Amino acid sequence: MTGDRTRYDQARWTDDGQYEPLLSEKDRTRVEIDEDDSPLPDDLTRDSLELPELSEPELARHYTRLSQMTYGIDSGPYPLGSCTMKYNPKFTEDVAALPSGAVHPDRTERSLQGTLELCYRLQDYLGRIGGMDAVTLQPPAGAAGEFTGIRVAAAYHEHNGEDHRNEVIVPESAHGTNFATAALAGYDVISLPSDEGGRVDLEALEAALSENTAALMLTNPNTLGLFERDIVEIAEMVHDVGGLLYYDGANLNALLGRARPGDMGFDVMHYNVHKTFATPHGGGGPGAGPVGVVDDLAPFLPAPRVRKTATEYELFEPEHTIGHVHGFQGNWLVLVKTFAYIARLGDEGLTDASAKAVLNANYLASQIEYDVPYEPFHHEFVASAGDQDAADVAKRMLDYGVHPPTTKWPEIVPEALMTEPTEVESKETLDQLAAAFNAVAGEDDETLETAPERSSARRIDQTSAARNPRLSWQALEEE
Ligand SMILES: *Cc1c(COP(=O)(O)O)cnc(C)c1O
Repeated sequence: MTGDRTRYDQARWTDDGQYEPLLSEKDRTRVEIDEDDSPLPDDLTRDSLELPELSEPELARHYTRLSQMTYGIDSGPYPLGSCTMKYNPKFTEDVAALPSGAVHPDRTERSLQGTLELCYRLQDYLGRIGGMDAVTLQPPAGAAGEFTGIRVAAAYHEHNGEDHRNEVIVPESAHGTNFATAALAGYDVISLPSDEGGRVDLEALEAALSENTAALMLTNPNTLGLFERDIVEIAEMVHDVGGLLYYDGANLNALLGRARPGDMGFDVMHYNVHKTFATPHGGGGPGAGPVGVVDDLAPFLPAPRVRKTATEYELFEPEHTIGHVHGFQGNWLVLVKTFAYIARLGDEGLTDASAKAVLNANYLASQIEYDVPYEPFHHEFVASAGDQDAADVAKRMLDYGVHPPTTKWPEIVPEALMTEPTEVESKETLDQLAAAFNAVAGEDDETLETAPERSSARRIDQTSAARNPRLSWQALEEE
């Protein structure tokens, strides 16, 4: 191993929006690996590894600087519609950090009784919250939950000799993952137009339904924040042709403690625990998207599930299981946080959360100058940026120190600003958000097009940022 070093300096954003640690050749430690020393096969090893050699204060400053360059829910309001970016209370982190939570999942069932009990009780909590009879905790995200749920629906149809059902109906205002899920599961996707009021068009639904319908995927309140008032009739229509009704749980925050998808006639649903139950959004890391189903679908859920016998908790394989969709019970520590959050809030706290989520959205909408074409909305609303470009509005809002809403979706509202403040924000913070909206509403195109001015990165190339993210330290190419 050889190395040489001098000092590490600053980091900066280049003009094209790249984050660049200013590190010279001399700052790097080049670790040469002697191949003969390595127990690993050649194709799994590198010849050299260039690492920065830094003192502790240099490193602390580097990461502190990085954390200040970004914006998160711990920095300020984050009203990203549909995503439900609610604050993650720190006590859930404390609970997940308890030494007793650090169990190896491959231990014997007998020695895992506490872990299994938590899983069992969480299955029960989620089942009761959604009005579902059985729950799997396994899927690692909402989108993975969708895929699991639709696969379960497919297995159910197949089991009943109905594998001719090859269509899944999805409203045109739905989240992109709904279309992707249905397509990936092998279905033809039928896109359903909205009616004038922004809800499911019953005539269009009637026309789309047939003996080929496997499922209708819906979220309620829908992506405009509107409650599908005809949901009981919709469920009957779908069930009459032998189809199943899938609930996209992303908007469950509006219903907590007040209404349950199961009571509306939904057969299968996923829960986005990072949206509804204040676990961190995965951001590509561990998440959880449990799936609940009615009794008829329970035998098809992923294996293993947890059940309680007279004396202990045990794992079992549902009779016609679709198999595993993730290891063990899924992302255990995320589930611990979910459990801690639900247990702490209780029935009353959850009911209060949905009330305040709806109140906050309605208060914020009443304070902004942008038009909100569809009402009455619940926990989120979709304003229109009108003549302004919604993406420019979003960039400019950053200059006022807040995170912007979701933009340009759903497309049913031109230049959509889909806004969801969540229940966690105070009136003062909602006023700060409204002030940012209103300041931007009064600005000219030139100001908007050159925004943001005050953020550490300006207009980045969003495609490369998504396709070629640099997520770890890299030595820069020599000039
Ligand atoms: C967030 C979201 C999803 C996908 O959930 P992930 O957990 O991000 O995979 C699906 N549908 C809607 C409406 C959403 O807002």
